[in-house]
Amino acid sequence: MGKSGQLFVVSGPSGAGKSTVIGKMMAHRDDVSFSVSVTTRAPRPGEVDGVDYYFVTRERYDELVREGGLLEHAVFAGNGYGTPRQPVLETLASGRHVLLDIEVQGAAQVKEAMSDTVTIFLAPPTLEELERRLRSRGTESDEKIRQRLDTARRELLQAKNYDYLVVNDDPDRAAAELSAILDRYS
Ligand code: ADP
Ligand code: 5GP
Repeated sequence: MGKSGQLFVVSGPSGAGKSTVIGKMMAHRDDVSFSVSVTTRAPRPGEVDGVDYYFVTRERYDELVREGGLLEHAVFAGNGYGTPRQPVLETLASGRHVLLDIEVQGAAQVKEAMSDTVTIFLAPPTLEELERRLRSRGTESDEKIRQRLDTARRELLQAKNYDYLVVNDDPDRAAAELSAILDRYS
């Protein structure tokens, strides 16, 4: 049997730039697969079902939880999110790395279940800059932005539990730093 791939988890407050930085890094690597999560939240303009997320009903989400089809799952800002279990295990077994973009509760569940997971926290330079990014993305209502900023303050306290901390000051620099972390496990 060949060598298994390595599982990586990236967490960080909403608006820190996880999607941006992961996207930039993935464009330069072909040895890592992005795990597409299920979510009950509505797609944002430009998001594609099956690429950014699998957009599912609450009923389907509950069914997946009940059946044990999710490696981890959590409620974030009122919506359910989860990582389909089978594709992650199959991809790792094939020797490719897998990267999850998930929030802190899910990350803790994955680390508990698979202790050799490498965890990376992507932080914004400041809370003010985080708010500016969330507002400039323009995808959430004022109320949702406030909710995500409240959650961010709690999430930032979890950064110390991660194996690596990357500050997203500049997306290209942060993507290069993330890529260099992955290289250590290749
Ligand atoms: P997340 O996936 O963490 O919620 P996004 O990748 O959607 O965050 O980024 C949030 C917003 O911030 C987007 O509008 C994105 O273009 C912008 N952004 C990402 N990284 C940076 C950066 N280093 N500097 C300035 N703006 C950024
Ligand atoms: P967004 O709605 O901004 O795309 O994501 C909100 C939060 O949910 C982010 O912190 C993101 O990392 C997290 N998230 C996305 N997919 C999953 C998942 O499958 N499981 C968990 N636990 N969190 C997820």
